[in-house]
Amino acid sequence: MSAPNPLTDEQLAANFADIAPALTNDAALLEANKCLFCHDAPCTIACPTHIDVPAFIKKIATGNLRGSARVILDANPFGHSCARACPVEVLCEGACVLNDRDEQPIKIALLQRHATDYVLERKLKLFAQGTKTGKRVAIIGAGPAGLSCARDLRRAGHAVTVFDAMPQPGGLNTYGIAEYKLKADVALAEVQDILDLGIELKTGVTITSLEPLLTEYDAVFVGVGLGSTKTLGIPGEDLPGVVDALTFIEHLKTHPYRDTAVGRQVVVIGAGNTAIDAVTQAKRLGAATATIVYRRGEADMPCYHYEYELAKRDGCGFRFNAAPQRIIGNGSGGVSGLEVRTGGGNETIPCDMVIVAIGQGARTELTWPKEDPRVFVGGDCANGGAEIVNAAAEGVAAARRIHQRLTNG
Ligand SMILES: Cc1cc2nc3c(=O)[nH]c(=O)nc-3n(C[C@H](O)[C@H](O)[C@H](O)COP(=O)(O)OP(=O)(O)OC[C@H]3O[C@@H](n4cnc5c(N)ncnc54)[C@H](O)[C@@H]3O)c2cc1C
Ligand code: SF4
Repeated sequence: MSAPNPLTDEQLAANFADIAPALTNDAALLEANKCLFCHDAPCTIACPTHIDVPAFIKKIATGNLRGSARVILDANPFGHSCARACPVEVLCEGACVLNDRDEQPIKIALLQRHATDYVLERKLKLFAQGTKTGKRVAIIGAGPAGLSCARDLRRAGHAVTVFDAMPQPGGLNTYGIAEYKLKADVALAEVQDILDLGIELKTGVTITSLEPLLTEYDAVFVGVGLGSTKTLGIPGEDLPGVVDALTFIEHLKTHPYRDTAVGRQVVVIGAGNTAIDAVTQAKRLGAATATIVYRRGEADMPCYHYEYELAKRDGCGFRFNAAPQRIIGNGSGGVSGLEVRTGGGNETIPCDMVIVAIGQGARTELTWPKEDPRVFVGGDCANGGAEIVNAAAEGVAAARRIHQRLTNG
């Protein structure tokens, strides 16, 4: 597992390039003009933040990219990262009426990216802070939920301080989303645009109790996301060469590619979206084989179908109905195989790296009162783990409730 990475820097850069490259201006105009501008816009209904899709596409068609981005970002503060990472196949694009005519749906995500890239690259400021209310809100967690809440509270004129345990803001946008969908510097540029509204950010601060904040602030929003990857509870799990998916992905996203250790024969345990992200990125990082091992059957995989297709296109392998029993050491501090139970008895899958991706547990270092009317919650820690767009929608909704409370109460 400690062998040097077999790929050249150019190969690594190509493997982690944007999976859905940006549209040219001409291509965006052509695509925008295919939209039927449906009155009942099922695409808008399907979006958890209810971006007015036909309205933003119309503005692209008339060359008003700034106005288009305003429609998007007004509804969804993370409209830029969502354009790159949203599961649009099961949301807006999946709902597009063109699917019913056996045509390709409108490329909503790429159009959304076209408009938001335009304003982000030019650092155009679309929103302003509201008239000061004198109220103060503390936000715990600088992920999509916390920062969406922060942005709308700031637009409403409240003073906002955001606390985050990590050195950089952005939550999983910065540290977790697959490198070929969203790079950390892009995520951080989007975050900076939100912070520029005059939001105070304190990073490297882990909040362990709400009590001090509740004496100092008028309301608190908790958007702390989920905790670390669950453990398997099988022998060998602590061997070097066994890594949890979030640690593997975080390292990859925050270091030069060749500095992230990857095995020649990698096994990923689990079959959710994070497992797919882990197996594809292990393969793109230079693993000779990267194989998903899943205890149930193909039809039971919790990942999105299109993610499964991507992993197959990347040449990843799949072992279904194989329940991990123990991880076998190689006698010199590494891993040599994963023993699994199959329908036909136990068998050992040879490997020199095991990535565990069986879901995240809840955060344990912070609990919050469920009844205190000054405390609001949203994002992964409230919904059990969903998508960026859900976290953004919940942050925006919480900002509305907090504003109501602070201005009526
Ligand atoms: C590997 C992986 C890949 C994903 N890929 C996609 C994708 O492609 N598309 C998509 O839409 N969604 C994806 N998701 C889901 C998406 O990342 C999350 O739904 C979203 O980030 C949730 O936002 P959040 O703000 O609730 O939490 P997070 O993004 O987790 O942010 C929570 C923040 O709170 C901070 N925090 C936690 N505890 C404390 C504390 N006690 N004190 C201070 N700060 C604290 C954390 O440091 C973190 O910055 C993925 C998730 C994972 C794990
Ligand atoms: S459903 Fe499709 S065609 Fe209709 S407004 Fe939405 S993107 Fe355009």
